[in-house]
Amino acid sequence: MSEPSDIAAARAAILKRIASAAARSGRDASAVEVVAVTKTVSPERIREAIAAGFMTLGENRVQERQAKVGEIDAVSTYPAGEQPRWHLIGPLQSNKARRAVELFDLIETIDSLALAQRLDRIAAELRRGQPLPVLLQVNVDADAAKAGFAPADLDRALTEILALPALSVEGLMTVGRVVPEPDLARPTFVALRDLSERLRSRHPTLGEALSMGMTDDFEVAVEEGATLVRIGRAIFGARPTVG
Ligand SMILES: *Cc1c(COP(=O)(O)O)cnc(C)c1O
Repeated sequence: MSEPSDIAAARAAILKRIASAAARSGRDASAVEVVAVTKTVSPERIREAIAAGFMTLGENRVQERQAKVGEIDAVSTYPAGEQPRWHLIGPLQSNKARRAVELFDLIETIDSLALAQRLDRIAAELRRGQPLPVLLQVNVDADAAKAGFAPADLDRALTEILALPALSVEGLMTVGRVVPEPDLARPTFVALRDLSERLRSRHPTLGEALSMGMTDDFEVAVEEGATLVRIGRAIFGARPTVG
């Protein structure tokens, strides 16, 4: 056997940190899934990540997934019988919705009723009876720089979104503010969890998934109920700064 790659070592460390955070809050760590965020990461490194066991991956741009898909999906080194699942975690423009449905298994960033309706029409056509899993992005901090539903708008739109037959709404997602210390992200995560609980009491078919937490704050997110943590730099190292 070759030595474990740096990515395998990073994975072991992350899973250990998730296990501790889950234990601190009395949660089962198996309820937490890592989305390995591969923006700016080369296809070779992505294949290493998959070989190391990261079976859920995230890109934030449709074009970037498109550019790399041929060098990733065609290889056969995946753990037996499994196919990696891809999440779109960045904003989706309506003119890329069709490509997104073709290239991703789950779209985390539905931020309007119009986008939900468009994806529903495309999924009905392309997925033939297999609803497209999605999350609804919420701007819980009311941060002008962030996409997502305002909580009050989501409450109003939810009845219509949940009625769309070709979408399966698995839960909520948020992108927290950049904060100097992980603990300062906690109110954002608590707010998303509370919103999910309130909405689910009125809309029982809304899923329980909570996608929240990144490299700098995923342990706090797990303590507050995250079921998906989106982690890039702790797996792949610092990203090149893009101009
Ligand atoms: C880049 C990105 C992440 C991962 O960020 P890291 O700090 O590298 O873990 C998570 N979520 C979204 C939406 C991103 O764009």
